Amino acid sequence: MNIILLGPPGAGKGTQAHHLVHAHGMRQLSTGDMLRAAVQAGTPIGETVRGIMARGELVSDEIVSALIDAELLALPPEAGAIFDGYPRTEGQARELDAILARHGRTLDYVIELDVDEDALVERITGRFTCANCGEGYHDVHRLPRVPGTCDVCGSHGFKRRPDDNADTVRTRMAEYRAKTAPILPLYEQRGIVRRIDGMRPIAEVTAQIAAILGFADVSQASMEGSGELPERPSGKAAADAAHQTR
Ligand code: AMP
Repeated sequence: MNIILLGPPGAGKGTQAHHLVHAHGMRQLSTGDMLRAAVQAGTPIGETVRGIMARGELVSDEIVSALIDAELLALPPEAGAIFDGYPRTEGQARELDAILARHGRTLDYVIELDVDEDALVERITGRFTCANCGEGYHDVHRLPRVPGTCDVCGSHGFKRRPDDNADTVRTRMAEYRAKTAPILPLYEQRGIVRRIDGMRPIAEVTAQIAAILGFADVSQASMEGSGELPERPSGKAAADAAHQTR
């Protein structure tokens, strides 16, 4: 199973990818995460993209496509891939087709998270994550149950993205409208786009994605209780799930 999560910044792509990884052993291929790691490590690529990312502009197709190609090479063939934040331009979409073909993979779905752009600035500027496990939180909508302690892993360090500020967010949205949204028709022609209302609560969006991908169990789990997060299998359960994602 290979899918693209598509939507403007703040639509919830990373959050949903995170759930699919933990519940089903799929692998998240986030070009944003890869680029941030390169910036932090001070690699030549990191130095090239640092300023571009800080301004909220797109880095070159060549750089991100090379990162994706390398990540796929390292991915076990049985692991399902979630493309998060890639492709973002028509050039990247074409390149992804070629990369997938080289790796013997096919694209199953493009999940489009449809969101109200006006609500996104508030969503993005309030978000932060656990520095240890990556669990996502929000200043208003989702604070840790015990202040300063991650609900999932119990650690105490949190981080915010430097580009999650109102000015940069506007640029990132403009980039999305101008360069990323136009790739949708390409996938619509193939009949693989599934549109989901990304303004619904996280658990509902998770359940809808699970239903599309045929993960009925997660759809059930995520609708229960507080409706916050689905039960996350670990160890053997996650490994077993990974084999089912093929
Ligand atoms: P993200 O974490 O997906 O919001 O990405 C953060 C920033 O990384 C973006 O604003 C871009 O500067 C850069 N970036 C991430 N993915 C891509 C991509 N596929 N193409 C071009 N730039 C990207």
